[in-house]
Amino acid sequence: MTLISHFINGQQAHPEGTRQADVFNPAKGEPCARVALAEPRDVDAAVAAASKAFPAWAATPPLARARVLFKYLQLCQQHTDEFAAMVTREHGKTFADAQGEVARGIEIVEFAVGIPQMLKGEFSDQIARGIDAWSMRQPLGVVAGITPFNFPVMVPMWMFPVAIACGNTFVLKPSERDPSPSLLHARLLKEAGLPDGVFNVIQGDKVAVDALLDHRDIQAISFVGSTPIAEYIYSRGSAKGKRVQALGGAKNHMVVMPDADMEMAVDALIGAAYGSAGERCMAISVAVAIGDAGDKLVAGLAERTARLKVGDGMSEGAEMGPVVTAAAKERIERLIGQGVEQGATLVVDGRGCSVEGCEKGFFVGGTLFDHVTSNMTIYQEEIFGPVLCVVRLPDVGSAVELINANEYGNGVAIFTRDGGVAREFVRQIEVGMVGVNVPLPVPMAFNSFGGWKRSLFGDHHAYGPEGVRFYTRHKAVMERWPNTASSGPEFSFPQMK
Ligand code: NAD
Repeated sequence: MTLISHFINGQQAHPEGTRQADVFNPAKGEPCARVALAEPRDVDAAVAAASKAFPAWAATPPLARARVLFKYLQLCQQHTDEFAAMVTREHGKTFADAQGEVARGIEIVEFAVGIPQMLKGEFSDQIARGIDAWSMRQPLGVVAGITPFNFPVMVPMWMFPVAIACGNTFVLKPSERDPSPSLLHARLLKEAGLPDGVFNVIQGDKVAVDALLDHRDIQAISFVGSTPIAEYIYSRGSAKGKRVQALGGAKNHMVVMPDADMEMAVDALIGAAYGSAGERCMAISVAVAIGDAGDKLVAGLAERTARLKVGDGMSEGAEMGPVVTAAAKERIERLIGQGVEQGATLVVDGRGCSVEGCEKGFFVGGTLFDHVTSNMTIYQEEIFGPVLCVVRLPDVGSAVELINANEYGNGVAIFTRDGGVAREFVRQIEVGMVGVNVPLPVPMAFNSFGGWKRSLFGDHHAYGPEGVRFYTRHKAVMERWPNTASSGPEFSFPQMK
């Protein structure tokens, strides 16, 4: 079976240790490859390569760096289907959804090729007689990215194109569940002309992550994953003096007002709750039905949820693939059981889902709960599966109260025809990304992505202008040239004359 290993200094590297894990095809329920699990020595080798490559890469003119990324962008477009097939094989999402993931990742590269424009500094002429002030943004050095299983192509692309365009060198530690796309990124970057050592990949688990967090030659860490790990990464990384942005989990609500276009709201919820089997950090997992929206909404959802086409992501017509592991399936089904025990109404039960020809696959069918309340486990926990909970509330004020009390603050949406209600909602809601009649308000590459509260630890959101700020340091320069006779030393604080 293929062993997926590291990529260090422009070439595939043999692992230093012997630890390995299975990589599963979740639709088949069987291993399709093995992945090396790095030891700290592997991490040392990758960081050493990145450190060695940094001075020359940082000194490369921004436009020359951008041109490498431009070539890489073209190669990504040519290899979209290869990326997407890897995602479907190791993650399970449908091939069309995987193609969409690749397309959204490519958009970040499109943004990154324009980064020279964002690296321009400011200039103030004559801030005092004969003195000018100017500023510049400089790269940090070696930076690392640690990424989750659910977007194995796109989430690394939130990070390295921006970091590299800004002049940093990069070490990626992808999820051990779907590690293959990381090596295709590495191969295409090399083919595009990226110098060896600028982009490195370390496969692994907590051992690799801890070695990155503690490494004194790493200046910054970008993390995307679950909240407990994000919090751990933020506290350990920042205690070691690193700049850290750690994006965590979510529980995203969609408020449906009685005046909403109900068909539009049902369509939006079906896609946003069950797309990618609910394994998206922006998935809607709670629908908040206001007043008499409840009965109409649940009727529409029940009918559509029950006829979702579940299957191997490569098969024609599949709308939803499997979840990522047997453990994820078992956990989701246990949570559904707890929902029933705690008194929610199970309208559509996705447990025990089996797909012909894929009997060992990790499938969970679309699941719909009604009359969910905030004290239930299915409301409180991020299920990260195809489970939609409907909460019924009397008015929009109680919806805002419920959502603002939730520990997460990644995404939220409101569906209504009333502009005044929507405007007030947008102003009052304590969530980082808000949709008005848009279920998944994922910002474009030239904006920035990030949640509030326990959905993000750190100060900077990902990619876009915030990404450029994260991966650069601001330097202020005051400059005087001795073309006038010196007026002698000054002992008092200078004043404008
Ligand atoms: P995860 O937290 O289990 O893993 C993320 C990364 O951390 C992986 O690379 C993994 O190897 C590493 N890791 C896991 N356990 C660790 C530990 N104990 N110590 C150090 N490193 C560890 O997340 P996942 O299951 O791969 O991804 C799903 C989660 O990611 C969900 O909670 C989802 O909401 C979240 N997510 C958030 C965003 C966002 O933008 N906020 C985007 C995508 C996914």
